[in-house]
Amino acid sequence: MINIDEDLCKGCHLCVFICYKNVYAVSLKPNKKGVLLPYPKFEKECTKCGDCELMCPDQAIDVDIETHWWVKEKDSKFNPNFNNKKES
Ligand code: SF4
Ligand code: SF4
Repeated sequence: MINIDEDLCKGCHLCVFICYKNVYAVSLKPNKKGVLLPYPKFEKECTKCGDCELMCPDQAIDVDIETHWWVKEKDSKFNPNFNNKKES
């Protein structure tokens, strides 16, 4: 599952361009910050490579990956505050 934190996302759309499976589409309606948010329209195509999560300059993406190859810790979160913020 892919989650995008809309409070962190600035709408640069790097994730849209980086995804080699073209998973993302861009919302036509701006959110409260005026950002056209990406969303995983074709999520079933996602291979969980993690590139979008790693590339996002604002750590606004969380992909359900068991082990991040760039962290090498099982069940680690690239942005440890991502879920904490959601739960607060
Ligand atoms: S790369 Fe990150 S900040 Fe940029 S649009 Fe995607 S989720 Fe938002
Ligand atoms: S994890 Fe890889 S395949 Fe999945 S949306 Fe991100 S870049 Fe695309």
